[in-house]
Amino acid sequence: MAGGAQPLLCGIELGGTKCVCLLGTPEGEIRTQVSVPTGRDPDDTLRRIEGILRGWSVAHGAFAAIGVASFGPLELRRGSANYGRIGATPKEGWTDVDVAGFFNRRFEGRLGLTTDVIGAALAEARWGAARGLTDFAYVTVGTGVGVGLIAAGRPVAGWHHPELGHVRVQRLPGDSWPGACPFHGDCVEGLASGPAIEARSGAAAGTLPADSPVWDLVAHALAQLAHTLVLATAPQRILIGGGVVSAQPHLLARIREGLRLSLNGYLRIEEVAGGLDGYVVLPGLGVRAGPLGALAVAADAYAAAPGPTPPESA
Ligand code: ADP
Ligand code: ZN
Repeated sequence: MAGGAQPLLCGIELGGTKCVCLLGTPEGEIRTQVSVPTGRDPDDTLRRIEGILRGWSVAHGAFAAIGVASFGPLELRRGSANYGRIGATPKEGWTDVDVAGFFNRRFEGRLGLTTDVIGAALAEARWGAARGLTDFAYVTVGTGVGVGLIAAGRPVAGWHHPELGHVRVQRLPGDSWPGACPFHGDCVEGLASGPAIEARSGAAAGTLPADSPVWDLVAHALAQLAHTLVLATAPQRILIGGGVVSAQPHLLARIREGLRLSLNGYLRIEEVAGGLDGYVVLPGLGVRAGPLGALAVAADAYAAAPGPTPPESA
């Protein structure tokens, strides 16, 4: 790193369908970005990412820190022998993959690691729609349903990171479709993820018109999730994005209304963010929340690194 220059951070978002590698700064400026498909052979995918990083470090110098934001479940307890390993994922070939070990063995310097949704939440807190908030939820509705939950300024972490996409919810009366989650059937992910919508309707989600009854069912499941979030940690705001909701923004109003009806006057959330329209919102960073999440994790790892004090950000 040249003296006085911005430190260069490397972010890697390991996603269900693709992995996004980016080079950027602690201010969230992306210098360059490359994607590789997430293959069935994790070693092959990770080695392709390694090749991209090696090329960048030859061209630009060593990274000040690397941040990885990965699909989960992921072991995040520092003291665990399995730290940084992926747990029981439906993603073929990836169960037990040692993500932290792979990067730690190959690159010097600090490695930050978290889940894709916690990373995206941290990016929204730094640069997006959760700036200034200490308690909020980032929900993504895409290939799966995931929630990055921040409470008192930190990701919620018990013996494991929360997996609120899999909570069971009350069904819309008359709907008895069994759901698509391989573990739980009709959990939120089993009802509202892109693949669930496609399994139920038999059509690509993007081809369903906005007045399709399927969207009422999806909005209902997501409103029920929001109900649980409100009651569990009283977030100051709920951000909902991902491939499904960002392509179907009409869902937002339906989720707000479903949440209002479900809470039924219990807790005055309408007063929290100046109304429900400001309480359940799209992410400020849009589809960049995920990749920027990896950069936010790298920025945190850099700030925590021993050595010269990092420059103050304005
Ligand atoms: P990932 O969860 O892998 O990061 P995305 O958040 O991009 O991916 O979400 C991908 C999902 O979005 C797919 O399952 C697909 O069904 C859904 N999707 C893609 N386009 C649309 C659309 N126009 N309307 C609704 N859903 C869509
Ligand atoms: Zn489930």
